[in-house]
Amino acid sequence: MKFKQRSFIIISAIILLFIALLLRNSYLQRTEQGALVTSIHGMDRNSRKIAVLDSITLCLQAAENDFRLYTTAWDTLYFKKYAREVRLAAHLLEDLYRNEEQSLSGEIKAGLAHKKGQLKLYSQIKRLTDSLTNVNTEVELMKITPNVPEFKSYPNKVLKKTVKVEEVRKEPEVKKERFFKRLKNAIVNKEQAKDSVKTVHTEVTYEQRGTDVSSSAQQEQEKIRAFYAKLFDDLKKNKKQLTNKEQAVLNLNEGIFKNIQQLFLEFRTRERAAADQEQEAIKNNAEHSLENIDKSRQVNFSLSILAYIAIILLLLQLYRSYNKTLKANLQVKEQVISKSRFFTSISHEMRTPLNAIIGVSEQLKSTPLNDDQRAMSKLLDNSSSMLLSAVNEVLDFSRLETGKLSLAKTPFKYKRVLRELRDTAKVLADQKKLTLELLDEDAPDLLLYGDPYRLKQIVMNLIANAIKFTDKGKVSVAVNVKRNDHEQAILLISVTDTGIGIAAENLPTIFNEFSQVINSKRIDWQKGSGLGLPISKKLVELHKGNIHVESTLNKGTAFHIELPYAIAVKDTEDTVNEQTPLLSSDRFKEIHLLVVDDSDMNLLVIKMIFKKLGISYDTASDGHEALEMLKGRAYDMVLTDIQMPVMDGLELTKQIRRMDDLKKANMPVIAITGQISSESHAIYMSSGLNDYIVKPFSESDLMEKILDYTG
Ligand code: ADP
Repeated sequence: MKFKQRSFIIISAIILLFIALLLRNSYLQRTEQGALVTSIHGMDRNSRKIAVLDSITLCLQAAENDFRLYTTAWDTLYFKKYAREVRLAAHLLEDLYRNEEQSLSGEIKAGLAHKKGQLKLYSQIKRLTDSLTNVNTEVELMKITPNVPEFKSYPNKVLKKTVKVEEVRKEPEVKKERFFKRLKNAIVNKEQAKDSVKTVHTEVTYEQRGTDVSSSAQQEQEKIRAFYAKLFDDLKKNKKQLTNKEQAVLNLNEGIFKNIQQLFLEFRTRERAAADQEQEAIKNNAEHSLENIDKSRQVNFSLSILAYIAIILLLLQLYRSYNKTLKANLQVKEQVISKSRFFTSISHEMRTPLNAIIGVSEQLKSTPLNDDQRAMSKLLDNSSSMLLSAVNEVLDFSRLETGKLSLAKTPFKYKRVLRELRDTAKVLADQKKLTLELLDEDAPDLLLYGDPYRLKQIVMNLIANAIKFTDKGKVSVAVNVKRNDHEQAILLISVTDTGIGIAAENLPTIFNEFSQVINSKRIDWQKGSGLGLPISKKLVELHKGNIHVESTLNKGTAFHIELPYAIAVKDTEDTVNEQTPLLSSDRFKEIHLLVVDDSDMNLLVIKMIFKKLGISYDTASDGHEALEMLKGRAYDMVLTDIQMPVMDGLELTKQIRRMDDLKKANMPVIAITGQISSESHAIYMSSGLNDYIVKPFSESDLMEKILDYTG
């Protein structure tokens, strides 16, 4: 037992360890999976950052191209495109910066701060780009507006020439703000300190003219030509002047733009390197997580294998235990059957001598006896009836246990049954000077359909116990009926006493077989088999009713039973229980019987009864002998035992039924048996028996049966 306990503890500990390891592994896997997800997100963020940087590079390249085209074609469309691309690059940078600030580690932020310095020029270029926009606008608007001379007969003495000149000047550098902010402001052209200043002024020149009229036309023509030549020269000059200035600015712009592109390229390369570094770290993390997951997977796999082995072993164990249980169940069933067989045979063996004792004692009482002899006969009577009830109890219990006991279904008046019971029990109550009362006035007198013998048995057990365990006071049997409808009634019977009571701790066990409450102060608890209550309970359950008990120690006990019955129709009332009037003994004198029994004791009792009643009879000790006797002589009836050597009672009956002489073949055959069960009843009836008497039988039982079949 101790070994089993230890192995149970070890198995439980192993199972708990398994569970703990599985839980730990699941937790680790969960953590590593979380890290893996973070790594994947990090990689995703990194590649997005790289993509943004690539977009910015592309934007800058496109902007540069457009700027080149603008400077070559001088078409504002390219300039607009250039401006748009630069603005887009600024937005992308701003977004990147904002995202970086939110998500990057301090180390990477520091890197970014470092890069800010390198990108200062980018903001300067942006400002120059803005100035370029202004230049462009001015170039667009700038017109050469010469003062055309008035050509008339009198030429003017002076010719006035006016030219507008524009100049762009670089401003001193202002204190820089944070890189990305400045960069953004620069790109979107938010209020910034200008890098360059543009000034426009007008140059005016005067020329003297001649006065001659005839040559005036010529002069005028000359003047016009000169004017236009001059104008053309001026234009060329101005254009050259403008182009040079613009060119300078544009060259400057281009240079700085290139510079910024170069710087951005560096920035991007660094960013990419940082991203690669970060990617590498993330990759390492992911690999580490995967490694851990793999490890815990391996542990899990090993645990699973162990668990499967354990499950298989436990299943084998379970299978073995199940087989053992099945075998044990089978053994129990076999034991119950053999116990029942033993009880049946022992009770049969006891019934035969008991039959002789009861019979002899009954016959003894009817002979003249002196006082001592009468006392001895009474003692014999009491002892034999006690023994009979004990034998009956054992037999009933074993038949109830094996389910072989079935209830009879006959119409009976329950009030009459209970009153008979009261009369029988009154003798016992009187002996102890107890009052026994039957309270049935409020209950309707119904004819019920069921087993009156078993009702008597149940209630008698309770009344007998009540009387046995009560020293003074009374025993009451209260009866009532609960009717559900016209067909069903529930009989409610309470047996209450003022006896010793049952302690609360003993109440749950009193319905167990052979259970008795041990009471050192009394000896009457020993007078009993301990089967009364279990039999009553099983019988109540067979009725589909219920029984329960209430008890207070030293105050009394009350048993309550509920038995459902079908209500019988009036005209089917069975008079079987009515007292049969004893017929005159003259009728027995005409009867000639054959008694077949191998037991001398039984024969002795029957002989004594028959002698008293004046019945003539022959005896045979087995079936074969009886058949021979039947061939030679006619009998009114055959009374036979069942178990006999050579030929038993059943075979004898079958042979009689096969006789050629029809009168003989149809003669009544009644068996005397110690076995009473539904199976034996069926066997007896199928063999051709007319009826049977159960041992031990009384004189009146025998007389009634003989008269039933010979009258
Ligand atoms: P027994 O043959 O001993 O009477 P029962 O099965 O009839 O067996 O009763 C079992 C036990 O229950 C008795 O031994 C007794 O201790 C207790 N018992 C039964 N009825 C009563 C009662 N009315 N008062 C006190 N104790 C009782």
